[in-house]
Amino acid sequence: MNAFRPSRHGSRSPNVSFEFFPPKTAEMETALWESVRRLEPLGPAFVSVTYGAGGSTRERTHATVKRMVEETALKPAAHLTCVSASCDEVDEVIRGYWSAGVRHIVALRGDPAGGLGTLYEPHPQGYHQTSDLVAGIRRVGDFEVTVSAYPEKHPEAASLDADIDALQKKVDAGATRAITQFFFDNDVYFRYLDKVRARGIDIPILPGIVPVQNFKQTANFARKTGASVPDWLAERFDGLEEDAATRRLVAAAVCAEQVLDLIDRGVTDLHFYTMNKADLVYAICHLVGLKPEKPAAQAAVAA
Ligand code: FAD
Repeated sequence: MNAFRPSRHGSRSPNVSFEFFPPKTAEMETALWESVRRLEPLGPAFVSVTYGAGGSTRERTHATVKRMVEETALKPAAHLTCVSASCDEVDEVIRGYWSAGVRHIVALRGDPAGGLGTLYEPHPQGYHQTSDLVAGIRRVGDFEVTVSAYPEKHPEAASLDADIDALQKKVDAGATRAITQFFFDNDVYFRYLDKVRARGIDIPILPGIVPVQNFKQTANFARKTGASVPDWLAERFDGLEEDAATRRLVAAAVCAEQVLDLIDRGVTDLHFYTMNKADLVYAICHLVGLKPEKPAAQAAVAA
């Protein structure tokens, strides 16, 4: 029995963090903020906001993170990539975050401008590798820097060992935490963790959990990012293409099973890819003992 799994004996719940993406339309903006407000009372360790290569998505990330700083009690982390920008331009963005009160950046290389599967070409005056970006961020300010990690290796990496070399470089440059690409087979994560620890890398490696809101979409995305989709997962969603209600229940069961197994096996920190949808993530958090903090007066009455 793991100390972090909630039980009738009152043990501790895990730490959680949530990823959101910046909204493109007014409707998406409403959905994002409803999700943020629903998940905020669960007291996440941090929330993060993804970043796109285009100028308008950059501004949306900045605006979303800034609003989180100004209007919520959350600690936001801004994702930032090296794509299609010079070091000076990226440094300007970093300084903007510092001025806005942001103290945590998720540093990434970003995908090739031509899309996944095409060759990545660094900007001639830009940061070439993520480790260079991590060092650049640390030069601008005393930011907390999180990076990515790939339990099934990044699709462009020659081998898992080579990819762990890249992780080592990011840590050497100043990264203090990694979040994994999503995975469905927990053994994949624990085997990766063993390899990383054997190399002497001791930063927290948070498992990235993706609740399967739409199996077809998730499987397509997994194929592109090199995450494997086990047959048993496909079988669980098979035949539910026209049955959204049952799909939602199955998705919750699949996610609960994965998360409870991670906790049973000693994981204390979990990162959820929310896709700006709160319900399933909220339910899983509830299941592992995370509940909104009661206002002081209400808590006193209950006692
Ligand atoms: P990196 O660690 O930079 O690795 C990329 C490739 O380069 C790997 O093959 C690696 O082995 C190799 N490599 C790295 N460093 C070196 C080195 N020093 N020498 C030689 N080879 C090296 N994309 C976005 O556009 N916006 C986001 O907000 C975003 N958020 C993400 C969050 C998470 C948690 C994850 C896992 C991914 C995210 N991505 C995002 C996707 C990411 O940008 C792509 O996967 C991209 O292709 C790789 O960038 P990276 O920083 O994850 O990988």
